[in-house]
Amino acid sequence: MYFRKFVVGDMANNNYLLIDNGEAVLIDCTDDIPELDSVLKENNAELKSILLTHAHFDHIAGVKKLQDKYNIKVYLHEDDKHALETTNDFMHAVGLPPIDIPTVNVYLKEGDKIKFGNCELDVLHLPGHTKGGVGYKIDNMIFSGDTVFLGSIGRTDLPEGNHATIIDTVKNKIFTLDEHTIIYTGHGADTTVEYEKKYNIINEL
Ligand SMILES: [Zn+2]
Repeated sequence: MYFRKFVVGDMANNNYLLIDNGEAVLIDCTDDIPELDSVLKENNAELKSILLTHAHFDHIAGVKKLQDKYNIKVYLHEDDKHALETTNDFMHAVGLPPIDIPTVNVYLKEGDKIKFGNCELDVLHLPGHTKGGVGYKIDNMIFSGDTVFLGSIGRTDLPEGNHATIIDTVKNKIFTLDEHTIIYTGHGADTTVEYEKKYNIINEL
């Protein structure tokens, strides 16, 4: 499997491209990714899907443009449907310009599997930062959006965030993964389950 991380937009979001056997999936899409077309071409790959970790604007604002350009499916957990639909109310409330809301083709739930090439991603429901946050797991890698960061956890003061829920999610769904699992975060550096079990701020909460 080919794997590439792009850091995109004003909030330095991590967007991840995974390719196997000519099929590509993009995890979150913040804005235009200038290198995307050339990377797809170099790998002889076609973009099949965009997998959203959650519905916050900085993870979804680039999706609609790609949806208009490629024949792709967009995936989001069913519990973030309301957050998606009210994104521009939030933008308005905080004084930011509206974004183009993508069309979600597939609403996910815990345990779903997403195939591309000869690979398969497992969907883990990771509520707390939003109601419908998910992680996409393959082998010893998990792409977990804004649930856990290097040494910290996602904020829960935004609409539909819940502090007790994110703590439960990190302790019972992230820390229970194999210790060698690499956590690819929504912002900033990647980390591991082993490191976070030792050093995450959650241990002091
Ligand atoms: Zn977020």
